[in-house]
Amino acid sequence: MNKRMNEQEMLACFDDAINFGHIFVTYQPKINHSTGRMIGAEALMRWSHPVYGMQYPSDFIPVLEKNDLIYRADLAVFESVCVFLRKCLDEKIKPVPISVNMSRYDIYRKDYVEKIEKLRQKYDIPVKYLHVEVTETSAIGGMELVSSVLKQLHDYGFIVEMDDFGSGYSSLNVLKDLAVDVIKLDMRFLSGDIGGRGGTIISAIVQMAKWLGTPIIAEGVETLEQADYMKSIGCKYIQGYLYSKPVVESEFLEKMQRLEHEPMTPAMVLTTAMDAGKFWDPSSMETLIFNNFVGGAVIFSYHEGKAEILRVNKKYIREIGMNMIEQEILETDPFIGMDEFNRKIFTDTLQRAIDSNDEEVCETWRTVCSKTCGEDKICVRSFIRMIGKTDYQYLFYAMVHNITAEKRQFNELFESERRFRFAIEQANVYAWEVELATKIMRPCFRCMRDLNIPSVVRNYPQSVIENKIFPPDYAETFRKSVEMLESGEVEQTEEIVPMTVGKVPFYVRYTLERDESGRPLKVYGSATLVVDD
Ligand code: C2E
Ligand code: CA
Ligand code: CA
Repeated sequence: MNKRMNEQEMLACFDDAINFGHIFVTYQPKINHSTGRMIGAEALMRWSHPVYGMQYPSDFIPVLEKNDLIYRADLAVFESVCVFLRKCLDEKIKPVPISVNMSRYDIYRKDYVEKIEKLRQKYDIPVKYLHVEVTETSAIGGMELVSSVLKQLHDYGFIVEMDDFGSGYSSLNVLKDLAVDVIKLDMRFLSGDIGGRGGTIISAIVQMAKWLGTPIIAEGVETLEQADYMKSIGCKYIQGYLYSKPVVESEFLEKMQRLEHEPMTPAMVLTTAMDAGKFWDPSSMETLIFNNFVGGAVIFSYHEGKAEILRVNKKYIREIGMNMIEQEILETDPFIGMDEFNRKIFTDTLQRAIDSNDEEVCETWRTVCSKTCGEDKICVRSFIRMIGKTDYQYLFYAMVHNITAEKRQFNELFESERRFRFAIEQANVYAWEVELATKIMRPCFRCMRDLNIPSVVRNYPQSVIENKIFPPDYAETFRKSVEMLESGEVEQTEEIVPMTVGKVPFYVRYTLERDESGRPLKVYGSATLVVDD
């Protein structure tokens, strides 16, 4: 028989319910929807009266709370969970972390946290197997109180999950001010059209959780469509009827052994002084700086070749936005448009940034698809810095500059230089250039081939004198000419020099190039064979 008990009946039966296990625990798995592995489970209280049958939490929990009995019931649940975990550990069955609900009325009980810690010790359960779910509405009782309870829980090492996030109270602020380790987002509070406003709120919350580096679990997920949607916006942890209703211990044990396990990604540890939490606070100085003073910037997470953009500023959109709006960019990755080759350059740079813990730079080309102009290629210079890491992923901050125009100019220059070199080859001339500041000389192809000069010669002219390309008895005159050019005294020199060991006579000419402020920059040298008429 199933009859809803009234308040009087519940109060009368409560002691028996605790003592004889009429109040017991069911377990609902938490699953990584991307991998199908189990990441944990939630312990949910049930009351099965021997005569009246099953009672539901929505009926009896408010009654227990009102009558100050929830505390005892919650401790009973916690103890049952410890007993279960102990059994698993004794039988060498690897358990998953089990989260236990903490009523907001437990928060008023000064000794609740100590009590559960005592139970944990009594059954000798490693604390990593026990999580505590605290509901968002607990904050109604005052932030200081909740904060102090969270601190107590953390001091003992319990992972704290914020339950029913989004149910209303003050969501964003609560999250900002409370140190929770996991966020549980209840789909039922935000249901309706996931493509519309509901979806916008959900994806904003998921984004925010990511900026905070806090793992997020979607609760109450009933359909594959919902789960896929959540995954698509970056929330892969799912708890709900889609995977399993809350089930009794034996059934849960079977599921737990059947499925593979994996840990939930822990919160990001920020490696720099930057507080990522402030990045989503629209009024923070960090946001102001991010948006206004730093040029194009992006924050993204990275794990084994996969990256996900978490945040971009307006200038990023302008630099490489390709006509996309922010939301569209957030759905892409920072590799967008890169081919294998450029991708490799980028990921190598990420690795360097991880290794050096310093800023690293790379230039990569990507194909962009602009809605108005069709396809185009752009070159982006990225200054990349790692700002956070977990056991399993990294957080990066990159400043980007679109350097396509600069690159194109350079390429054109390179092209014309190449043509120039071909022309020299045709004209029977040996040519080279010397960068005065660095004393680096670059010879033409013919010099390299006929005179065996390497493609880059350092410490010019000393090194070529030593190599006897310029004969030693001409070294002094030769050095003088170079000095005169270097100091800008003359614009050009011309002399006949017997070159190489064979002393073959050449006209050697130098021309000076100055920079825009008139300082000597380069000299161009050429040598042509002296032909007797
Ligand atoms: P909650 O902590 O938000 O627990 C999740 C509730 O969602 C559970 O209801 C679960 O059975 C239900 N649920 C899970 N997946 C789905 C789904 O896909 N669709 C739908 N429609 N529902 C789903 P339940 O077990 O009835 O518990 C209701 C509430 O009672 C809990 O909400 C929690 O606030 C409270 N509660 C349950 N057990 C305990 C406990 O041991 N201690 C305390 N203090 N409160 C508890
Ligand atoms: Ca819960
Ligand atoms: Ca919940």
